Order: sequence, then structure tokens, then C-alpha cells
Amino acid sequence: MPQICQDNYFKWEYHERLKPGVYMHHGPAGDVYTVRVGSPRLLSIESLRWFAELADKYCDGHFRFTTRSSIEFLTPNKDNVDKIIEEVEEYGFPVGGTGNSLKTLLHTQGWVHCHSAATDASGTTKVVMDELYDYFKRDDLPAQLKISMACCLNMCGAVHCSDISFVGIHRTLPRVIDEEVANSCEIPNLVASCPVGAIRPNPRKKSVTINEEKCMYCGNCFSVCPALPIANPDDDGIAIFVGGKVSNTRKGPSFSKLVVPYVPNEPPRWPTLVKTIKMLVEVWVENARPGERYGEWVERIGWEKFFEITGLEFTDKHIDDFTFSVKTFRTTSNFKF
Ligand code: SF4
Ligand code: SF4
Repeated sequence: MPQICQDNYFKWEYHERLKPGVYMHHGPAGDVYTVRVGSPRLLSIESLRWFAELADKYCDGHFRFTTRSSIEFLTPNKDNVDKIIEEVEEYGFPVGGTGNSLKTLLHTQGWVHCHSAATDASGTTKVVMDELYDYFKRDDLPAQLKISMACCLNMCGAVHCSDISFVGIHRTLPRVIDEEVANSCEIPNLVASCPVGAIRPNPRKKSVTINEEKCMYCGNCFSVCPALPIANPDDDGIAIFVGGKVSNTRKGPSFSKLVVPYVPNEPPRWPTLVKTIKMLVEVWVENARPGERYGEWVERIGWEKFFEITGLEFTDKHIDDFTFSVKTFRTTSNFKF
């Protein structure tokens, strides 16, 4: 921790946002200036070394990552702020993400690392961030905007509680390779891995069967038994949600709600996904009142109006989602189309 932060620890008095990407925190030991830098999350060793050198030059060797993987440089010297910004922007990274701006996207592992991914995480995040780059650098949006992605329903990201989120979905049953299940998988573990009880032992083959009516294509069984592959390059894709948040500001926390059940996987630039997310951001920026988070805006205008002005189709796929979370949103039975 920088010395100035140690000296002000538990004694901070106030803070100000000086301009997009720059905070000043005041305490009895003096002021601390923070420059927030957006990160693509997957960073090369070369970039990390460059950040470390910049921190050595201006911040006594300190920099930190925020929970959304932005990078913050902290310095007690106000004169260093513009020098840091100039060097960071020249290197190709944006400064911003403070106040009413788009925050750095949260994402999970995707094809780079995880076995149950239905789409790529870093690839989809990169193309969405490329398109929304300017929203990170400005802080005049109606409220802060948090976008998250997860690459399967197991969802080790924050898509259940973000303003806009997208999640990779499988849409076909795991394929049971009986011989490999018999040779390599623990049947009781496999049965227990299914959150909806769709897997039953098949003693005749020393394998299992899957009840198609119950399966929700989460891929959890594949995590414990590689003989049940679920990935399907032709049919896997992405669902899009809006309206979640975790904070208690203005209104209590709320879950994200499904608004687009499926867009196809279209690597390397995922044009349908990018176009849809950009439209969702633009509609909110244009129509929300100052201070309104995404879900608060939709609640005010009504979900019927939301689907009307976005042009998104309300289908039978939405009904379960709007019925489930009765405490935070109106249910579909109350919708008046
Ligand atoms: Fe793996 Fe799913 Fe997490 Fe993606 S969201 S990293 S596929 S568990
Ligand atoms: Fe159960 Fe999920 Fe496997 Fe379907 S994909 S059988 S719901 S664990």
C-alpha cells in the first residue's frame, strides 16, 4: 500500500472526481490522486512490465487492480496525473471508468481455459468493449453501467446482477458415451452433479441416462465426467439479460432478466451480439433519467414499453424468467401487451 494511503488509513475525509478517470481522496496526511485505466483483462507479460515501470516512475512502485480488473495508479503528486494519463493513452489504454461511466467488463474464462464454455469469454468481451470504448472514457451517462459476461450457465461471473449481461448457453443434451462413462466416471458423483435431477444410473451399460425434459443444458455433469460432452459448435450461443444490480442505492438489489434468448456464436467479431448490446446501451442512454440504473429505467417505463422501443421480440422463452424472480420484477402474468 502506498505510504500516503497507510498514513490516511481509516481517516479519509472526502473524495472528489476531478475528471473522467481521475479521483482525489483527501485525508489528514494529504491528498491522493488516482488514475483509473481500462484493461482488456487478459494481459501480456509485456503490458504488466510496462505498468510496473510506470508505477516505478510516478507512484513509488505501487499500482492496483480493481474488482472489475481496471488498473489504478495512485500518487500524492498532482503534477503526475496528466503525465500518467499521457503515457497510458500513448501506450493504447483508455483512462476512465469513474462516476457515471461504463466500467471495465467482467468476464469468465471461456475457450481459453474452461471446459464447459458455450462461447468465448475474452473474445466476446473484447469485441463488445471495442464498440463501447467511448462509454468508458466519458462520465455523463444516466448512471454507472456495469456489463458482465459468463460463458456457461454455471456462471462464475456476475451476470445475475449486472445492468447488461450476456451468457453462453448450450441448447442440446450432453452426449452420453456409455463405454467411456463405464471406464472413467464415478456414477454416484455424476448423478449428484445434476442440479435438476435429470441423470439416472443405467446399470445395464454401467452408464447413465439423461431425462431430456428435465435437463437445462448447464454442462455441470461434464465438469465431473468428460464422457458427457455438451459443446455443440452449430447450436451453442449467447443469451442477453438486463436490469440487475447489487447496490442498495435508490432501490434494492435486483436480478438480471432475460431479454434476448439466443444469438449465435459468430467468432471472431460476434456482430449480432455486439450490435444488440450497443443498441441496448444507446436506448438506455437516450431515455433514462439522471441517476437511473438500467433496471430502474425499465421498471419505470414498463417491460412492455422496453420491448416496444428496443424492437426485441417477447417470446415464450422469456416467461419462466419473469415468473421466477417475483420479488424484484413484475411477473409476465401482469404484462399487458
Ligand atoms: Fe467455466 Fe462456466 Fe465459468 Fe465459463 S462461466 S469459466 S464455462 S464455469
Ligand atoms: Fe443435469 Fe446440467 Fe447435465 Fe443437463 S447438462 S444433465 S441439467 S448437469
